[in-house]
Amino acid sequence: MGEIIDGKKVAKKTREEIARDVAKLKEETGIVPGLAAVLVGDNPASQIYVRNKRKACAEAGIYSEEHNLSKNASESELLELVKNLNNDDNIHGILIQLPLPEHINETTVLTRVSPLKDVDGFHPHNVGLMVAGNPRFPPCTPNGIIRLLDVYDIPIEGKRAVVVGRSNIVGKPVSMLLLHRHATVTICHSRTKPLKEVTKTADILVAAIGRPRFITADMVTEGVVVIDVGINHLPDGKLTGDVDFEGVSEKASYITPVPGGVGPMTIAMLLWNTLRSAKLSTLA
Ligand code: NDP
Repeated sequence: MGEIIDGKKVAKKTREEIARDVAKLKEETGIVPGLAAVLVGDNPASQIYVRNKRKACAEAGIYSEEHNLSKNASESELLELVKNLNNDDNIHGILIQLPLPEHINETTVLTRVSPLKDVDGFHPHNVGLMVAGNPRFPPCTPNGIIRLLDVYDIPIEGKRAVVVGRSNIVGKPVSMLLLHRHATVTICHSRTKPLKEVTKTADILVAAIGRPRFITADMVTEGVVVIDVGINHLPDGKLTGDVDFEGVSEKASYITPVPGGVGPMTIAMLLWNTLRSAKLSTLA
């Protein structure tokens, strides 16, 4: 049985380090990092995410505010709010909670967030910087994955990393971050054939698919490090990852559980980016 990577513990330690840095920044400059969360509509999952993010902000000494627009709010109303937040000196990070209602164009909105406050790292400027190897705001989930590997002293350089999933939020950016850390990276997706032959070559396997227990023990080799990004809600209300934990953990050297693996790191890295943005604002 491989060692379980305790994301909850690492996230807690990371948030404590951030809290110390936030206090130091305030003492030295008077600046308190601020995060604005924008929520459109009443998606219950989004409401929980925003609540958790705000709670984590409060614990780290980061100011946060929430802007709730009704599900019928127009795109121009939302863009006006984004413009005001872009110009608000108390706000260093703007978070647009996705998904947005269908009548609002997500790309339009995300590109109107100031790239200097885009703590999710979704703005094309920040995507470009990240791909070029000089990220301003590394995307939170991918950055959390790298931190987990680092905290557990898992070498990345020279290793074969296989990422299953090519989304803009997880698959592509985590592939880039692993590449910058000198892994040899293969990106797989729904048309990869035969998937199993590729996943079996992995020293580090990242599963970001969105399919419960998709990666099974026969798809990995002995000693693999497995990072499970998936968050899947089963009909019985339980959460499960993209990896068949029971089978795969027998072969893995390290493995992240779901819940308690990658998930908690995402919020921690959001706070980290907000602090970074506040620090960068002192240089402007
Ligand atoms: P997307 O649905 O955007 O992407 C899923 C990817 O998986 C796609 O690239 C898709 O390929 C690929 N895929 C789907 N089916 C297969 C298959 N049969 N074989 C190989 N590849 C396949 O999902 P996200 O990247 O946004 O999220 C992935 C998972 O991670 C979800 O469970 C999500 O909830 C979770 N998540 C967790 C976070 C956290 O904080 N822990 C943060 C963000 C997401 P193709 O491109 O060809 O369609």
